[in-house]
Amino acid sequence: MDFKDYITVIEDYPEKGIRFKDITTLMQNGPVYRQAIDNMIEFADKHDVDVIVGPEARGFVVGCPVAYAMEKAFVPIRKEGKLPRETITEDYGLEYGEASLSIHTDAIKPGQRVLITDDLLATGGTVKATVQLVEKLGGVVAGLAFFIELSYLDARNNKELNDYNVYSLVTFD
Ligand code: AMP
Repeated sequence: MDFKDYITVIEDYPEKGIRFKDITTLMQNGPVYRQAIDNMIEFADKHDVDVIVGPEARGFVVGCPVAYAMEKAFVPIRKEGKLPRETITEDYGLEYGEASLSIHTDAIKPGQRVLITDDLLATGGTVKATVQLVEKLGGVVAGLAFFIELSYLDARNNKELNDYNVYSLVTFD
């Protein structure tokens, strides 16, 4: 199956020069969405995963069904100020400005093997901040799994990510 056929590319959204990859058209097709999740699970099974972690909001769309099917925990990463209990926070750079992501401090136990999920790997800033949060809590990052990878940005070979196992369903160049 070519998952690319189910992803819609929108030119100049949300601003000029960005080619937005919309996964909602993939999600509108139940069997295709399920196959995408099954491929993620196949990757997770190879890496002996205990916990699934995903940043809001599209990391939930990918990670929650994986966690459900594998009977594993799902841990949300949210923008600072959204989680109700004790958290740690990581700041990271965006194309314009800064953002902060948080995780509950009790969400991961030292030594647990973690699969990080998101819809798309672009510069890698979001996933790097997520890796930092997981590792600060003593988690072991077993893999990073995405529906889409923007291969021209080559984030997987970035010096902070090249030690991790990276999986994506489709690449765009
Ligand atoms: P990055 O931190 O640069 O790797 O960007 C990853 C995050 O931004 C993901 O959570 C995506 O949802 C979103 N994102 C970045 N670029 C795009 C794009 N071209 N189309 C859709 N989403 C994007």
